[in-house]
Amino acid sequence: MVHFVGAGPGAEDLITIRGKEHLEKADVIIYAGSLVNPGLLKYAKEGCDIYDSARLTLDEVIDIVKKADGKGKEIVRLHTGDPSIYGAIREQMDALDDLGIMYDVTPGVSSFCGAAAALNLEYTLPTVSQSVIITRMDGRTAVPEKESLESLSEHGSTMVFFLSAGDTKRLSERLIAAGRSEDTPCAIVYKATWPDEKKFRCNLKTLPEVAAKNGIEKTALIIVGDVVEPSVYEKSKLYDPGFTTGFRKGTDT
Ligand code: SAH
Repeated sequence: MVHFVGAGPGAEDLITIRGKEHLEKADVIIYAGSLVNPGLLKYAKEGCDIYDSARLTLDEVIDIVKKADGKGKEIVRLHTGDPSIYGAIREQMDALDDLGIMYDVTPGVSSFCGAAAALNLEYTLPTVSQSVIITRMDGRTAVPEKESLESLSEHGSTMVFFLSAGDTKRLSERLIAAGRSEDTPCAIVYKATWPDEKKFRCNLKTLPEVAAKNGIEKTALIIVGDVVEPSVYEKSKLYDPGFTTGFRKGTDT
């Protein structure tokens, strides 16, 4: 049996209790060494076989799983953040389905949630933005054309860019050319929740120089939108004394 586990964004205590229990019971752990905090491997039991998938191909990962599962071993496939976001899990699941190997998924705290926590930020502020677009800029790997950052930015929603910190100049230029104003608030969060986390607030125009000055070109998220520096927003209706909810009678009735 394979357990896909979300390791969380970095801090060792941000894995879920269930994820930690899977790690403790695992006979084999295959972890995404490029981003998963190796400190989490302290939860592995003695004798556990540990592999860093950063050095492996998909076929090699599946081969390790196949051999271990054939011997009745418990396998943890440890992915950074939440496995459903840029986790390349579908292709692994399809291969496991073909082999008749069972699996389940334990979610994790995605880095975009870790970044919001680092900034004390609410992505969905009433009247400012009620949507969060999770995306990435195209680079060595393509993004479907209808999801180009130009078309997504038309909504004016909060945007969180994964895998794009390597070219903040192009990101900024393209968003400005697509109509976002130069002073649109932005933030760049490097290694959110890790001990060496760094975070900077800036705007679309200054984003490239802030990234360059601080040497940030990977393991970072870029957040774009007024929620980063909101000037005005409406308070939530949920706690408005005038608003009746299923749990509380308001003055509106
Ligand atoms: N599944 C992961 C994302 C994997 S893609 C998740 O849910 O977070 C890898 C990209 O995620 C990195 O290039 C970076 O953009 C982002 N990332 C992962 N961990 C991060 C962290 N702690 N801080 C900032 N960005 C992070």
